[in-house]
Amino acid sequence: MNLLKKDFIFKDVTKLKGVGKQLSKYLKKKKIEKIKDILLNLPYSETDRSKLYKLNELEIGKTQTIKVLVKKLNFPRIRNLPNKIICEDEVGSINIVYFNSREGYLRKLFPINEWVIISGKINYFNKIYQITNPEYVTTLDNKEYVTKNIPKYNLTKGINEKKYRSISDQVIKNVPVINDWLDLNFIKNNKLLNWNECIKKLHCSKEGKNNKSKSFRRLVFDEVLANFLTLSENRKKIKRPKKNKIFKEIISNNIIKELPFHLTKSQIQVLNEINLDLKSEKRMFRIIQGDVGSGKTIVSLLAIINVLECKYQSALMSPTEILARQHFKLAKELFKKTNFKLEFLSGKTEYKKRKEILKNLENGSIDLIFGTHSLFQKKIKFKNLGFIVIDEQHKFGVKQRSDLAKKGGDNCDVLLMSATPIPRTMMMSLYGDMDISKINEKPGNRKKIITLSKPENKINELWPFIKKNLKEENQVFWVCPLIEDSTFLDYSSAKKKFDIINKKFPDKVGLIHGALNKNEKEEVLKKFLNKDILILVSTTVIEVGIDFPNANLIIIENSNKFGLAQLHQLRGRVGRGSKQGSCILLFKTGLSKNAIKRIKILKESDDGFFIAEEDLRLRGFGDLIGFQQSGIKNFRFADPVIHEDIFKIAEKYVKNNQNEFNHIKYAFLMKLFDRAEIINVEHI
Ligand code: ADP
Ligand code: MG
Repeated sequence: MNLLKKDFIFKDVTKLKGVGKQLSKYLKKKKIEKIKDILLNLPYSETDRSKLYKLNELEIGKTQTIKVLVKKLNFPRIRNLPNKIICEDEVGSINIVYFNSREGYLRKLFPINEWVIISGKINYFNKIYQITNPEYVTTLDNKEYVTKNIPKYNLTKGINEKKYRSISDQVIKNVPVINDWLDLNFIKNNKLLNWNECIKKLHCSKEGKNNKSKSFRRLVFDEVLANFLTLSENRKKIKRPKKNKIFKEIISNNIIKELPFHLTKSQIQVLNEINLDLKSEKRMFRIIQGDVGSGKTIVSLLAIINVLECKYQSALMSPTEILARQHFKLAKELFKKTNFKLEFLSGKTEYKKRKEILKNLENGSIDLIFGTHSLFQKKIKFKNLGFIVIDEQHKFGVKQRSDLAKKGGDNCDVLLMSATPIPRTMMMSLYGDMDISKINEKPGNRKKIITLSKPENKINELWPFIKKNLKEENQVFWVCPLIEDSTFLDYSSAKKKFDIINKKFPDKVGLIHGALNKNEKEEVLKKFLNKDILILVSTTVIEVGIDFPNANLIIIENSNKFGLAQLHQLRGRVGRGSKQGSCILLFKTGLSKNAIKRIKILKESDDGFFIAEEDLRLRGFGDLIGFQQSGIKNFRFADPVIHEDIFKIAEKYVKNNQNEFNHIKYAFLMKLFDRAEIINVEHI
């Protein structure tokens, strides 16, 4: 292999000397597949092997390096006994012990009456010092290879330090010198480091494990930059020219006039932003962010009616069938004075009906279709789809979004709606390719949910409260803690709770948990919606978004196990009607200060965005659950809390350089962070 070629680091690891099939399998476990992955695999610590110790200076348990004379090799013929090499220096003696090493190999390594350098962990056994399977044994003339600070990498079974070093040396000693994609002034002004210097430093000093070091921060900047540039390029691809939609908002204005409530200022503003996008000559790619209950649905339906008014079809997609049905129902009511044809399609729609719907979508006699993901099957063809709305989209990654935008054809606008408030610092990393609209106020008629906390041993005080609620025709959610990675344990804890509550309130309780499939879950939810059951015991599997106008009490067990944002989401499921909603947080006694603070925040605030920020601040990014699927976890080095300032610098950088994306300039960067394919960078 030609190490002088700059792109050697983007080749497969098997191109390196000594990396065969077996070893590459082990490396893959550590996510090392290409040679550049070795560059990005940073040491977590280092071992100081620099000093040579005399045998009377040894410390048990410490890793030390010694210079000793080989006296005798001992190969017992009895199985399971280790091979032993006896060595000495001027002041003492030591045994070097090997399990499972071949005699020939050891004889070569330890020539009798010669001095060798050995480095390994010191033990004491049968009153004599010993080193078992030392990491390094070498001749005197090769001393320099061992006697230094040697970086330690996270390795797996099958690769030891020496082996890994023989591989990583080939890379780190030959790191190609690159024209930095950042210019010198920028690097200086932002107290970063140049790339060539940074990548070396990350491997040969303590800088690699210190996420605040200058070189680490440069790496973080690059990782974030690669992410932001990808999104910015994605955006350019998506925001292609389209035919502008011409409408007068006559129908929508009439509907607004007849609503039983006034739209909030926020809703009006967001609707205007959407309308401007629809009328513009670039495709819309927008996300509405609005807290649970902030009234996103009505906004999207008003935008949809504008699109229908100018003779395009629209589709509204929801994550669950119940939700899709709710939207369908609401739209039928809202649009009852119009002649538009609305339909509902799901996986369960029977064959004949389905065939008819597909036909009518294709010939254009259906104007607006509601459904689940199944709306986006290839088989479904539209005559002139002009608008796709997707509710509760938080499961969409960048790649899916870019696929989605291709779906609708050239004149199709795309609107996503999310009820997951995202902290400011994460906004750009998640949605840098989208325009963002925020609904940041709740409808005025909404009463603030009363939030209380209670230790679990006082659970008995809850029964009368529940009874009272049932009498007032309120329904109740009871949320059991989710035991991660175990649907069985989740089930058994929820089932136990179900049995207890069911005894108190016979025939009024339902149970929903992760082991149920989608249809079974929907069945239970339907029963709850129809008031066939009044108390719903669940793990957190209940989908967000569904309107249960009668649910006014939610009890959350072991609430300190949930994140603030999650608790806020859960709480948002009650109090959606005109009655007062309450939320009771149960906790085990002995709460940490942090947990008490969190409960306090929740009691005081009902602003999802504020809560998300606080959640991030209190728990740190590493602990934030609920973002796993969002793609933000893709950062390997960057932490939006610790490196907040770097995110801001990168954001500014991308904004300033938006029009100029130089494929050649950024090729190395994009390949380094595996973004090249998404944005089609070919050359380097
Ligand atoms: P979300 O933003 O969580 O999707 P929804 O769109 O489901 O919220 O709205 C929740 C409830 O609030 C619905 O019953 C809806 O009719 C009602 N709503 C929406 N906007 C307003 C408003 N401006 N004033 C009063 N109620 C509203
Ligand atoms: Mg909703």
